[in-house]
Amino acid sequence: MKPIQTYSVVPKLPRNLKPLWDLAFNFWFSWNDKVEALFSRIDARRWRESDGNPVAFINAMSQQELTDLSNDQLFLDRLGETHADLMSYLGKTASAIDFKAREAGQPVVAYFSFEFGIAPSLPIYSGGLGILAGDHLKSASDLNLPLVGIGLCYQQGYFRQYLTPDAWQNERYPVYDFEQMPLTLVADEQGHPVQFALDYQGQGVTVQLWKAAVGRVALYLMDTNIAENPPEYRQLTTRLYGGDLEMRLKQEILLGIGGVKALAALGLTPSVIHMNEGHSAFAGLERIRVFMKHKGLPLEAAMELTASSCVFTTHTPVPAGNDRFPPDLMQRFFEPYARDMGLAFKVFLALGREDPRDDAEPFCMTVLALRLSRFNNGVSKLHGEVSRKMWERVWPQFPLEDVPIGAVTNGVHQPTWVADEMALLYDRFLGGNWREDPDCERVWRNAETIPDAELWRTHERLRERLVGFVRQRLRDELIARGARHKDIEAADDVLDPQALTIGFARRFATYKRANLLLRDKDRLLRLINDAGRPVQFIFAGKAHPRDNEGKRLIQELVQLCRSPECRNKMVFLPDYDMESAAYMVQGCDVWLNTPRVPLEACGTSGMKAMANGVLHVSTLDGWWAEAYRRDNSLGWAIGQGEIYDDPEHQDFVESQTLHTLLETDIVPEFYERGHGGLPRNWIRRMKRALFALGPVFNAHRMVEDYARMAYIPASENFRTLSAEGFAKARELAEWRMEMMTRWGGTAVRAVQAREAAGRLFVGEAVDVVCEVDLNGIAPEHVSVEIYAGPLDQDGSFTARKAKVMEPAGNTSDGWLRYAGMLKPGEPGRFGFTIRMLPRHPNLLDPRSLGLIRWA
Ligand SMILES: *Cc1c(COP(=O)(O)O)cnc(C)c1O
Repeated sequence: MKPIQTYSVVPKLPRNLKPLWDLAFNFWFSWNDKVEALFSRIDARRWRESDGNPVAFINAMSQQELTDLSNDQLFLDRLGETHADLMSYLGKTASAIDFKAREAGQPVVAYFSFEFGIAPSLPIYSGGLGILAGDHLKSASDLNLPLVGIGLCYQQGYFRQYLTPDAWQNERYPVYDFEQMPLTLVADEQGHPVQFALDYQGQGVTVQLWKAAVGRVALYLMDTNIAENPPEYRQLTTRLYGGDLEMRLKQEILLGIGGVKALAALGLTPSVIHMNEGHSAFAGLERIRVFMKHKGLPLEAAMELTASSCVFTTHTPVPAGNDRFPPDLMQRFFEPYARDMGLAFKVFLALGREDPRDDAEPFCMTVLALRLSRFNNGVSKLHGEVSRKMWERVWPQFPLEDVPIGAVTNGVHQPTWVADEMALLYDRFLGGNWREDPDCERVWRNAETIPDAELWRTHERLRERLVGFVRQRLRDELIARGARHKDIEAADDVLDPQALTIGFARRFATYKRANLLLRDKDRLLRLINDAGRPVQFIFAGKAHPRDNEGKRLIQELVQLCRSPECRNKMVFLPDYDMESAAYMVQGCDVWLNTPRVPLEACGTSGMKAMANGVLHVSTLDGWWAEAYRRDNSLGWAIGQGEIYDDPEHQDFVESQTLHTLLETDIVPEFYERGHGGLPRNWIRRMKRALFALGPVFNAHRMVEDYARMAYIPASENFRTLSAEGFAKARELAEWRMEMMTRWGGTAVRAVQAREAAGRLFVGEAVDVVCEVDLNGIAPEHVSVEIYAGPLDQDGSFTARKAKVMEPAGNTSDGWLRYAGMLKPGEPGRFGFTIRMLPRHPNLLDPRSLGLIRWA
């Protein structure tokens, strides 16, 4: 029996408590401790049990409780203050980031992501990618960047992890009720839900939208779980990373194509689309289709316009982590779509192929995104390099160093991740500015002035809090498992609040090597059982439900944790999530990371730890390859970033290195206590890390980098190309076509440099000339360049600079002469060549045509 009509019943809030709703419905609460304190004040225990969800918390209050509260003047005063803070935050309009010609009330950037980690109470994330997206939105809000987020609203989110008695990971899928979460169903002025239709193989699917307010930024989440949709399509938004390949494709169609339609349905007209990972690459396609359909642009012009205003961030240095769909699956869903765009299906598939001529190659979302965006980046400098290597086949004519994929290193939203107690200390010694202006060196330099004793006591309190949290979680887990009373009681003996605590928490993917320390069990047991200088470990992390290898790693680890020699000194904390992550990155002494170089794109948990004064030990991968100092003054490195041929051997060497590092450096320094029981050297290191790394590895710096390098140029491109009925976009497309036809006939000859018997002095100039045939292309549309730099043993460039040459007359047979000069700056082998590239004032990146001519 089903009801004919359903309602959501909410408590009637007395008028003077109404501001509670505003606070509950803005995720601003996730980085403002005051709001949390307010809810905790109402009922601390119930608040703790509410998973940090203020909406469910209020909904569960009795009318009597509400009445009592509305008569509590002290509470009302606090409520008033906190509410005023929120209102003042929302009311600020000033921004340091200047988009010219920005339409009032309209976002400039739409940020698409498959997952978002904003707060524990909105569990639509799985790991680093989602948390990064959440932190991006929060910093965009703080910086007042006109940005809007687009994602999916998963009814069951990602799975919750629990362990069977034999330590095997099992998955639980609680069903979330969006009505009980800080989300609002988007409705129009008449109160009707805003909906739109999406086509799947001729089947119309209706999509509705939930809005999450993240400070000043709106995040719109698409939901297909609507009664009128066929059951299989209602399930589109059930689980994150659930289902098979076809489900993944359907979800990515929803994110990319649906996302662009959602913006239109909302009346939003952002000029820039940021695709966070390849999942959303169909957004580029849909934009092209819309420009063609609604603005009458030819395909080439629509593509130029789209690519010039799209930004793409790749996150996955592991080939298997990039989504690839078989051609026949693509055909089932995209044949009519391609036809609609006027593309032969083979040409359409080529957009997602590294080798466009290979009919067997699957369709890769990353390749599509790279082709549809003129700003492509990896998420750390090292990952930028790795990505250039990984995707060099997309730009077959270009040397590796010139593959157009750059790097913007990730950051974390510090106000979210810094512990309340530490934040109070920063407020006092760094000034309140550290929240708004965290990428300022001047602010973090003041970390030096925090008294050692205060910093240490605060840190110790956080370690204690972590130990308490771990005990509580283990207890809950044991109770849920129906464990014996004695075992439940024993959870209170786990860990020592005084001992050196090392944290390791991340996805259990094999390359992250959670079991690295376990390779030498004797050494590990000696380490944790040293009565004078005890060391303890907290592990946490999930394996993907279908990753049995990862589950085996967890099992091995958990069985060791449960063994008598390790019990109480090594624990596995089940169900790693944002909440446990926060406790861990705030309360550990050392944050351990052991990825096999170079497979960790960036890693952000170490940055969260660093911002809390937790020291980092890691292989030189991802962000740590940038942050680490050779003198070990900020933290430690396992190895020197070597890449081994034999992973087995590498694991052995690096596990030994790590043990030695712990035995000889880390443990002794932690227990070297001076006056007042303070580890002075350790504390000095904490402060130096805060001072040196705090201003760099944060999300404000990251979002400002994106704004400066990507968003502002992309929005300018859009403005230029779309002005006067898209005149410049059409012109650029025509120009591009002409280049494509004429380029094959261009040539470079007669390259000459003054020969100094092969020897040159540093700084000595050499004149270089050459002759080129442009095959009818106007000289202003090419750039003839000297490409020069030092050489390695094999005679390949180790670095290079391109220098534009100047026209220098004609030859008698109609070729053009060019002249330039080169000047080697350093002694050693040095070489040069000449290259020619297309050039156009509206072309963002000359490499995007894939055309180049080498001498
Ligand atoms: C920060 C965070 C991550 C990402 O951390 P990495 O260092 O990139 O592995 C994953 N999961 C949660 C819950 C986090 O808070």
